[in-house]
Amino acid sequence: MNRISPSTEILRTAVYHTLGCKLNFAETASLRDALCKRGIVPARRDEAADLCVVNTCSVTDVADQKCRQLIRRFARQHPQALIVVMGCYAQLQPEVVAALPGVGLVVGQREKGRIVELIEERLGQHNATAGLAICGTEGTDEDAGGRVPFVPSCSRGDRTRYFLKVQDGCNYFCTYCTIPMARGRSRNGSIASLTAQAREVAAQGGKEIVITGVNIGDFGRTTGETFLDLIRALDTVEGVERYRISSIEPNLLTDEIIDFCATSRAFMPHFHIPLQSGSDEVLRLMRRRYDTELFLRKVEHVRAAMPDAFIGVDVIVGTRGETEKHFAEAYSFMQDLDVAQFHVFSYSERPGTKALEIPHIVAPEEKHARSQQLLALSEKKRKAFYGRFMGTRRTVLWEHTEGCRTMHGFTDNYVRVEMPTGKVPPSGNTLQEVGLGDFTPEGEALLAEA
Ligand code: SF4
Repeated sequence: MNRISPSTEILRTAVYHTLGCKLNFAETASLRDALCKRGIVPARRDEAADLCVVNTCSVTDVADQKCRQLIRRFARQHPQALIVVMGCYAQLQPEVVAALPGVGLVVGQREKGRIVELIEERLGQHNATAGLAICGTEGTDEDAGGRVPFVPSCSRGDRTRYFLKVQDGCNYFCTYCTIPMARGRSRNGSIASLTAQAREVAAQGGKEIVITGVNIGDFGRTTGETFLDLIRALDTVEGVERYRISSIEPNLLTDEIIDFCATSRAFMPHFHIPLQSGSDEVLRLMRRRYDTELFLRKVEHVRAAMPDAFIGVDVIVGTRGETEKHFAEAYSFMQDLDVAQFHVFSYSERPGTKALEIPHIVAPEEKHARSQQLLALSEKKRKAFYGRFMGTRRTVLWEHTEGCRTMHGFTDNYVRVEMPTGKVPPSGNTLQEVGLGDFTPEGEALLAEA
C-alpha cells in the first residue's frame, strides 16, 4: 500500500522477517536502513505492504520449514506485495523458494551487494505479469565465478548493541555444516573500513559493538590483515565503550588474542567458543580442527587472564557417529569445564554434507534425552557462575527494551541484570555501576541493588 508522506511524496512500505544467526539480523537491518533512505519505509502493524523481505536460514530442516511457512504467511497477508527471499535457504534451494506463492525475487550470495538495486528494479516492474527473478544463486565456489564479494553491514537492530559484520563465509567444511556452500569462502572487510564503521556507531551514540562473522578468527583472507590487528584497531575507537566477540573457533583463539582482550580498554571479559563435542572421536568425525585438550587449554588461558570472564560454549548433540559411549565421554568433559553456559543444538541432517556418509544414526528420542541432559548441566553452570557475583558491584549497560516489562542489561562479564519493579528505571543505553543482589524469581537474572 502506498502512503503519502507529509511532503506528499509517495512512499512504499515494507515488512521484514529474519531467521537464523546474528549475521542475518545485521544484514536485514542494513538492508532496511538502505531501503528507508530510498523511500521504502517499514509498514505499520496490520498495513498491507508493497514489499516483504525474508532473510532465511538453513541450519536445520526445521529452519527450512519455518522459512517456507513464513513466505506462505506473507503471501496471504500481503497479497499485492513483492516477496524477496535472501539468505542461506535461498542460496541452497533457490528453486524450492521460487516455487512458493508470491515470491518475485530470490537473491543469492553473489548478488547480495546489489540487492537494493534489484528490489527497486523489481518494484518498478511489479505487477501480475512481472514474473520471477533468481539472481546470484549459481554457486559460491570460487571456480563458479570468482570470489563472492564481502557485503559490509553494521546494525543496531531493536536493542542497544550494534552488530558489526567483519567477516563472512568459511573455508573449514566441518562435515555437518552447509555454511561454506550457503555463504561461500572466507572473506572480510578491511581494518580501515571497519574502524570507520565503528566510529560511525560511536557518532550515533552506540556504546557496545558485537563483532560478528561466520568464522571471525579467520579474518584477513581478503586483506592480509589479522584478527588481532583488527581488535587492536577497534579498541582505539573513542566513544565505543564495549566490544564483544560473537564466537571464535578455539584453534583460532590465540593466546595473544586472549591476552590482548585482558588488557584492552574496551574488550569485555566474555568469550563464546564452539566446542561442538566433548569427545575426540566425534570431533574427528566432524572434522573440527582441534581436540578436547586444546579446547581445555584455551578455557584455562581465558580463566587465568580473566578470572571473571563469561565463557559460553556451543555444542551439538546426536550427530551421526555419536554413540552412547562418546556422549558419556563428552558429558564428563563438559561437566569439568569451567564455563558459564552451553548453547545446545540438536544435530539435523543436511543435504549435501559429508556427515551423511557416517553410518551410525542417533534416534530422535535419544537425541532429545541427550539434549535435555546438557541443558540441565548448562543451567547448573549458569546459576553457579551468576551466583559468584552476588554481593559484588559491576557495571551494567541498560538496554532499550521496547515491549519488555522490566528494564534489563548485562554486566561487563555478561551477567543479565534486572531492575526490580518499583525502582526508578535508568534510561536505556546508559552505563551504571550497580550492586548485584539475588536471583529474579525465574532465576534468569540477578536483581540490581542501589
Ligand atoms: S567452522 Fe565449521 S561449523 Fe563453523 S561455519 Fe565453518 S564449516 Fe560451518
